[in-house]
Amino acid sequence: MGLREMEREILHREKKTGTWRKWLLRGIVVLLLVGLGVAAEAGAWLLSRYREGAVREQELTAQVERLQASLAQGQAALEEAQQIIEQMKEYSVASPEGVVPEYTQLYPDFYAQPWTGETVSGGKTVCLTFDDGPSPNTDRVLAVLEEQGVKGTFFVVGKTGQKDQQRMRDIVAAGHTLAMHSWSHDYRKIYASVEAFLEDCYQLYQWIYEVTGIYPQVFRFPGGSVNGYDRGIYQEIVAEMTRRGFVYFDWNASAQDATAKPLDPAVIRDNCLKGIGRELVVVLSHDSAARTTTVEALPSIIQGYRDAGYTFAPLTPGVTPVILDYKREK
Ligand SMILES: [Zn+2]
Repeated sequence: MGLREMEREILHREKKTGTWRKWLLRGIVVLLLVGLGVAAEAGAWLLSRYREGAVREQELTAQVERLQASLAQGQAALEEAQQIIEQMKEYSVASPEGVVPEYTQLYPDFYAQPWTGETVSGGKTVCLTFDDGPSPNTDRVLAVLEEQGVKGTFFVVGKTGQKDQQRMRDIVAAGHTLAMHSWSHDYRKIYASVEAFLEDCYQLYQWIYEVTGIYPQVFRFPGGSVNGYDRGIYQEIVAEMTRRGFVYFDWNASAQDATAKPLDPAVIRDNCLKGIGRELVVVLSHDSAARTTTVEALPSIIQGYRDAGYTFAPLTPGVTPVILDYKREK
């Protein structure tokens, strides 16, 4: 090979090598670009998965919060049930060694039927109640309730006049609850013993049936379930009346209208509206001839509760009992 030829050969090889390098570089660049594209694609996919995950996490957190809330409600209900069990234990103390008190044998037809109707436990419900009637005032209360389309509850006493009997029938016919308060409303008499209470209440029970054809299922203790007269025996009375299927209601808002001089209707209204904010309100007011300002206040009481978003219900054994706080009252 001559020198000339060798030179040509080297030049040719260099040219060839240059071409390979160029293609190799191009290949690397293409691969890099493809790699970047894939990486970007994957990044976007991962980001979207991450975002979905975040949304799902939020949903799960909300679900956990909801579950925690219902758990808390469940625990509250359990605690309430345990308190009731404790109270029942207190009652059983009244009959040591399982001895059944003799008064359980009295008045074998003095029992309430089991309740099969609706239950009401709250949901911004207000139950208007009128104690100590019937009276000439009952007619006016009934007229207002009719006009307003509201059902209430009348805890009546033993009144035997013709007009009062008609009022009891009017209460039932209008769809209100006719409930037992007391035949005599004589604290010393009815709270003298469990037997005395049963005798008085049974007399009213029979009378209500005789006049109206319905058996009352609900009652209210004169003076409230815990008062200055029944401290020694109220647990026994509650246990015995409950055993017979009756349900009693105290109140958690009061017209405070049992005054010597009738209160101003605006004051009565304000007193009654103090129940606003509770899920279930039971308003105590009085139905007697002297309570004229109570009936004057009634439309504004109804309006006040309506404006606050409440609905009205009569008391039945299906309504969650509203009972004075024994611990506080003791
Ligand atoms: Zn009363």
